[in-house]
Amino acid sequence: MGAAAEAAHRDPAQVRLVAVTKGHPVEGVQAALDAGLADLGENRVEELGAKRAALGPIPGTWHLIGHVQSRKAARAAELADLIHSVDSIKLGRRLAREAQESGAVVRVLAQVNTSGEVQKHGFPRDEAVERVHELSEIQGLEVLGLMTMAPFVDDEAVLAGTFRRLRETGERLHALGARVGGELSMGMTNDLEVAIREGSTMVRIGTALFGERPGWQAAEAAPASPSRGTA
Ligand SMILES: *Cc1c(COP(=O)(O)O)cnc(C)c1O
Repeated sequence: MGAAAEAAHRDPAQVRLVAVTKGHPVEGVQAALDAGLADLGENRVEELGAKRAALGPIPGTWHLIGHVQSRKAARAAELADLIHSVDSIKLGRRLAREAQESGAVVRVLAQVNTSGEVQKHGFPRDEAVERVHELSEIQGLEVLGLMTMAPFVDDEAVLAGTFRRLRETGERLHALGARVGGELSMGMTNDLEVAIREGSTMVRIGTALFGERPGWQAAEAAPASPSRGTA
């Protein structure tokens, strides 16, 4: 991460490392905390709940990075310090309702499907500016920025284009005066260098820190469906 930031003439301190502990036992989370990592990421509400219960209060921040079903919004708002994956106005409204009941603000990122792959979550890229603007006006939500996932490819030009589209979506929102923060959550084990070059402020890293997720190989080795609609 440091090398990628320096190569891009960026301050390495501007890129936060979210350690993705999904699929690993609580010992893995403890090891990450012991190593000084303060941002932890889980992609499922249930697993986040189980780990929070097992560990108790931690000197760190919990990030929820996976798709959240609307019916789990209350639990997600209660468990996560930052939800990276708000991908619909409906989910945003549900989260906001929870916030208003508890008198708190729910901090979120808006996920944008910048790759255009049909199997990916996120606001459709053609409507992203309009939808995220709408999201940012919901009382009780604080939209700190945007999140995306790149396609599973090695082609750097495709990866860079996917990340650049997220940055440009943020720039367009800021030009409109939308109350959207500057965070760009993008980059995983396979593409973090490209993401940092394109302006990432948060990378979400699992495999490079913890190795393969036990029992996850089958699902992740499944061939990705061909991407459609990619420019
Ligand atoms: C699992 C996951 C990651 C981490 O992926 P690695 O390739 O293991 O680094 C990042 N973001 C999301 C949304 C994930 O689900």
